[in-house]
Amino acid sequence: MLPKKIAVLGLALESNRHSPVVTRQKFRYWEGEAITLDARSESPKLVKEVIGFYRGMDSIGNWEPNPLLIAVGGAGGPADAVYIREMIEKIRHSLTDVLPIDGVYILNHGAMITTEDEDPDGELYEAVREIVGPDTPIVTTIDLHANIPQRMVDNANVIVSYRTDPHVDQYDRGKEAATILREMLDGMCPVVKNIRVPIVAPNVSLLTDSGPYGDLIKYGQSQLGREILNVSVVGGFAFSDTSKNGLHVIVAAREDPEAAERLCVELATMAWADRERFMWNLTPIEKAVEMALMAGENPSTRPLLLADLGDNIGAGGQGNTLWMLEALYQSGAKGVLIGSFCDPKLATMAHEAGLGASFKAVFQGDDWERPDNQFAVGKVRVRSLHPGQFRITQGPLAGIPVDAGPICLLELGDMMVLVTTSRPIVWPDPALLETMGLDIEEIRTLVLKCRSNYRAVYNRYFDQEMMIEVDTPGRTSPVLTRHTWKHFPRPVYPIDRDFEWSVLKD
Ligand SMILES: [Zn+2]
Repeated sequence: MLPKKIAVLGLALESNRHSPVVTRQKFRYWEGEAITLDARSESPKLVKEVIGFYRGMDSIGNWEPNPLLIAVGGAGGPADAVYIREMIEKIRHSLTDVLPIDGVYILNHGAMITTEDEDPDGELYEAVREIVGPDTPIVTTIDLHANIPQRMVDNANVIVSYRTDPHVDQYDRGKEAATILREMLDGMCPVVKNIRVPIVAPNVSLLTDSGPYGDLIKYGQSQLGREILNVSVVGGFAFSDTSKNGLHVIVAAREDPEAAERLCVELATMAWADRERFMWNLTPIEKAVEMALMAGENPSTRPLLLADLGDNIGAGGQGNTLWMLEALYQSGAKGVLIGSFCDPKLATMAHEAGLGASFKAVFQGDDWERPDNQFAVGKVRVRSLHPGQFRITQGPLAGIPVDAGPICLLELGDMMVLVTTSRPIVWPDPALLETMGLDIEEIRTLVLKCRSNYRAVYNRYFDQEMMIEVDTPGRTSPVLTRHTWKHFPRPVYPIDRDFEWSVLKD
């Protein structure tokens, strides 16, 4: 038998409507055979779902990958519409060129908007289906911070969403997509049921080890078996602010539509009954500063990690709000490291001044909710310099190369700030800090512009209870009532509280 021909393609971005446009230069891009070569190499640079998909397909038997293109933008604002149109056009053409095809794998995030369109993901799925026809299996993987339009569900056979936040299961989900596709190639025709629950969950309520979201995922997984093929409970991404926002339950069954329907209704009902747990519960800045002062004064106590939630780079934050830097500096707390602050001008100044030099610094910050977007410090000292190219060594992004432009470690009295030229440092890799002469064990308070994925890296240095979510202002504040929303379907919990909803009436 001839090996099955499978098209592999991907387009992924998490768009925060409040953040600056993501231009074509910000996308990582692969095309054609380079995708297969990288995915099968010893140290691949592709996103882990694609690697998992290849390894999954390779382990089950002979197949013929037909890689088209993969463009991955990470997290930022809306994508440049011209670029996304161009990518979808390119996918149309290259997919048409490889017909006939036996199946398609799509790597996707599921929370992209463009400067002109709120549903490019749905457009992509529709385009692919149009070309391959109704009978060709299409299996996709998405982030759990995705917003699901009906046309995504209608045009893919099975959508496999991550099940972990912090995200540590991308590789496994890619492999799972391969297993499902193999089963479909052998004749299985899944049936899918999906329900949108009117909850736009603050991202702090979407951790999966515990809490309402973890409970839903756990229950969904307990139902997998001979009939239920996949359960994807998709938490959503509030900051896209679209008409498709909500918490989505998608259940795929192997044969029985009623089994899919039953479980989908059960999970949606559970989610709604539990809605009051999808809330934020954050620590005010003043309290966080107090904790940092204590940690600095008592070196024998456990160190503290403060998550600067208003400037979460992983959700479109710009990595340069001043609130934590200013409050901690003014408090005089000892042993603080601000684990990244993006300020190209300052990074250049430090590199020009050289190692050990001192100068007056003005930190240039985000002007979100803050017209005075500068913070001046009389004297900073350049403690360490680095060209800014490195590979992440731990956690969900391990293996990914990063270019943050020239970076430096500045000392401001008793605290330090890692200043970067560009935005991509979601958290400083421990190996990078070591290269820059810093011993993580000596840090008393580490401030990260990240919400959850850092946990998968820093849980070996910090206790869970000492990881504090701080209520800072910014584009990514999970306090959803603080933002203006223009496109959500209303009413939606928890922005609207006083309404009833039932799966059966919807
Ligand atoms: Zn995510």
